[in-house]
Amino acid sequence: MAGGVALRIILATGNPGKLRELQKLLGERFELVPQAELNISPIEETGRTFVQNALLKARHASSESGLPAIADDSGLEVDALGGAPGIRSARYAGSDATDEENNHKLLAELGACPEIDRTARFRSSMVYVRAPDDPEPFVAEGVWEGRILDSPRGTGGFGYDPLFLDESAGLTGGELGADDKNRRSHRGQAARRLSAMLVTGRIDAKVK
Ligand code: IMP
Repeated sequence: MAGGVALRIILATGNPGKLRELQKLLGERFELVPQAELNISPIEETGRTFVQNALLKARHASSESGLPAIADDSGLEVDALGGAPGIRSARYAGSDATDEENNHKLLAELGACPEIDRTARFRSSMVYVRAPDDPEPFVAEGVWEGRILDSPRGTGGFGYDPLFLDESAGLTGGELGADDKNRRSHRGQAARRLSAMLVTGRIDAKVK
């Protein structure tokens, strides 16, 4: 990096797509290192909220590495199901459930719920800790509103994407291209907010 050394930050995820996207937003002042590169294993997500789980992951990665860390946690909230699957999104249909099994369970739980009541949103919490016991972590959140269809559309994305309709685009997460999804998605919003906080060093940084 021209004129200085990049700050190394551990990223508590094994997902290379997340690393690439976030690194692009942060620029060359920060160097993201995936936790697997330092042989740090993921910890159990025992929190009751997305923020709690993201903090658990970031504090663990920071404690194991001795470096600052970033982690995120996300999931789908469906109004007609009282906010389920929520923090259990990845394991809705069981601890080793596939995306297909989770989607199948979601449709079964919604049954004949009418279109107007199928409102839902993805939420993402992304956090940054300077040290394991950082008392003032940066916390950024993103929300993506939509509706659950009664059958899947599209083959892109992952998780619940094919069932999640972005009404303003008229497309599901499975039909949106990666860049379009990133511009709209909960994780894209959270990542841009966190990136603005890191770059300015301010918790009230504004994002366009
Ligand atoms: P994680 O935060 O990456 O562990 O995601 C938790 C779970 O929420 C995933 O396994 C998916 O089931 C669901 N999820 C989170 N973000 C998305 C998304 O952008 N599209 C579809 N499903 C998602």
